[in-house]
Amino acid sequence: MRLSTTKPTFIKYTFTKTFKALTPSGLPDIDYALNPYVGCAHGCTYCYARAYVRDAEVAREWGSVVKIRVNLIDVLIKDVGRLKPGVVGLATITDPYQPIEASQHLSRESLKILLRAGFKVDLQTKSPLVLRDIDILKRWRDRVEVGLTITTLRDEVAAIIEPGAPPPSERAKALRELSASGITTWLFLGPVIPGVNDDYGSVKNVAKLAADTGSLLIHDPLRLKPQILKTLSQALRTLGLNPNNVINKARSKAWLQSVRDVVEKACTDTGAECVPAF
Ligand code: SF4
Repeated sequence: MRLSTTKPTFIKYTFTKTFKALTPSGLPDIDYALNPYVGCAHGCTYCYARAYVRDAEVAREWGSVVKIRVNLIDVLIKDVGRLKPGVVGLATITDPYQPIEASQHLSRESLKILLRAGFKVDLQTKSPLVLRDIDILKRWRDRVEVGLTITTLRDEVAAIIEPGAPPPSERAKALRELSASGITTWLFLGPVIPGVNDDYGSVKNVAKLAADTGSLLIHDPLRLKPQILKTLSQALRTLGLNPNNVINKARSKAWLQSVRDVVEKACTDTGAECVPAF
């Protein structure tokens, strides 16, 4: 059966200005957050980043509206001159290699500025576009880590839950290439969603990729922010699942424990090192 996707047919791009490029991060092991874009064209149906975006239009139309921080590089140059070097998360609430980066190069320029100034960069993406910048990542490999998010290796399922993102098969190839280049890599298995990607077979395939590439596997269960319920429910229905059943299960302690058990078993069986996200 061919499943229809919820991929947005039109993305509205506009420019915006920012006063700060580097902001304090609340994430473990990350000192600063850097988000070159406001919004994310990958439009993942489970994405709760929209709950942290101040721009009402971007939050409301998540996945269909992206604002480009047109003065980001000028502001970043000033920020790196006044701030103590630390670890920068690129990016924390958007994907730094979403499609518009191919023409705007804000993530590429940011990498160069940060690394030349002595900062470390921990970047996370769902896109093989990151390979465009492998020259920089290799040159500064002692101060960069690259994470690829792979919720499932089934492209047809990812097309439903992550309609604007590149297929996981392409992400897996990118992870292999980065790892083979000597770059420290990690793999984010999240969110794990009941009935979608919580079965042992699905998790084991992802864990095997982590083991093959020497990537730390970081796993995270579905986080049910109110803002995601509409888009996630639509995707679940497309997959033939009952959204209420999935959501109730995701809230149960028994399921949370079972996911942790499944991931840990898959990691033990494949030889992958794994840790929970938080
Ligand atoms: S790639 Fe990340 S930031 Fe972008 S929509 Fe998906 S989960 Fe959200």
